[in-house]
Amino acid sequence: MARIIRDGSISRRDFFAASATAASAAALGMAAVGAGFGSAMAAEELTVNGLPAAVFGNTGLKVTRISFGGLLITEPPVLLRAIDQGINFVHTSPGYQNGRSIEAFGKAMKTHRSKVVLALKTRPDDLDRWLKVLNTDYVDMLVPPLHSTKAIADPTIPEAFEKAKAAGKVGHMGFSCHKDMTNVLNKAHELGYFEVSLMSYADAANPEFLAAVKGAVDAGMGIMTMKGLPKRGAENNTPEERARITSRCTSMVGPEHAHTVLASMGSFQAVDFYREMLETKIGYIDNALERRYWADQNGNYCSMCDKCTGTCPSGVEVRRIMRYRMYETDYGMTDYARAKYAGLDADCNAASCDQCGLCETTCKRSLPIRAMLGEAHAMLA
Ligand code: SF4
Ligand code: SF4
Repeated sequence: MARIIRDGSISRRDFFAASATAASAAALGMAAVGAGFGSAMAAEELTVNGLPAAVFGNTGLKVTRISFGGLLITEPPVLLRAIDQGINFVHTSPGYQNGRSIEAFGKAMKTHRSKVVLALKTRPDDLDRWLKVLNTDYVDMLVPPLHSTKAIADPTIPEAFEKAKAAGKVGHMGFSCHKDMTNVLNKAHELGYFEVSLMSYADAANPEFLAAVKGAVDAGMGIMTMKGLPKRGAENNTPEERARITSRCTSMVGPEHAHTVLASMGSFQAVDFYREMLETKIGYIDNALERRYWADQNGNYCSMCDKCTGTCPSGVEVRRIMRYRMYETDYGMTDYARAKYAGLDADCNAASCDQCGLCETTCKRSLPIRAMLGEAHAMLA
């Protein structure tokens, strides 16, 4: 029986033990193929560099339960600190910070490549260009953005991957997705050739989504999360906010089945927070905080689900504007958010909204879209 240390919470050791028990049947199956979430959990407190880790699906790679997301960095020191503190799984994309994130990774990889599992979000046909910037000749995982069931089933994708794998440039084939996640993940599972995925957990309260994740994990797919955490993550947060982040991380690597939480870290403070969480606090779940987190998402947070796309008679790019608003409000990326907003066609920005309210009738999160667009325009125009 797991030892309760707070209402709805359990200790880290007990969390892993309890999860191992709950996953025991699956663990036996996964152990037979030598890898996967079940087997990782069964091996209580598997560690890398002294930090809790998991076997990343059938890749067999051991990755820390919190991984480094490169969205916020423009220089290497914060990344280097995370690696030196033991976090061994890192991810970037050419799109982050207008290319400055991947350049920072490239500088860091000159000395730290052998210490990390490196994931890159870009399309296979762009790989050679970004390998040069990264100062490496291979990435462990390539996760191109594939946001629809049509995109995920594109037959040129596995061909391109196999070519890159044969050339030793990619270890494992994957995808990233933050739209229509349940259907895309189920399709990827059905196709059978994707080994890893980077999934948005903005919709992780949805049982169908969690069932899709579980199905993929049980089949051996490695899952890393994006989104699914309270805003900004770790800087200057109150004790309650810190507890909420810890609870969300624990949920994602426990009942929500992911192997690792990709956390965007933009400061030494953030690195130290996540490092300490991994070392001492992962395993903490507070059900009241979880409920409050999900309640806050409703009516407040755009999950980028894409449901409203195409509904606006005035052609306003609702989802993209919501995304740029999030860069500003959640991550404080003011210059980047403003540059992105300025890049919208003038006919598609929030000033073109005529307040008809149609988009709000389609939004499953019941967002006050008109008000949020107005706020975004005031912040970013
Ligand atoms: S409220 Fe504005 S953004 Fe929404 S559908 Fe109407 S015009 Fe488009
Ligand atoms: S505004 Fe609503 S419907 Fe549109 S992408 Fe966001 S959550 Fe989905």
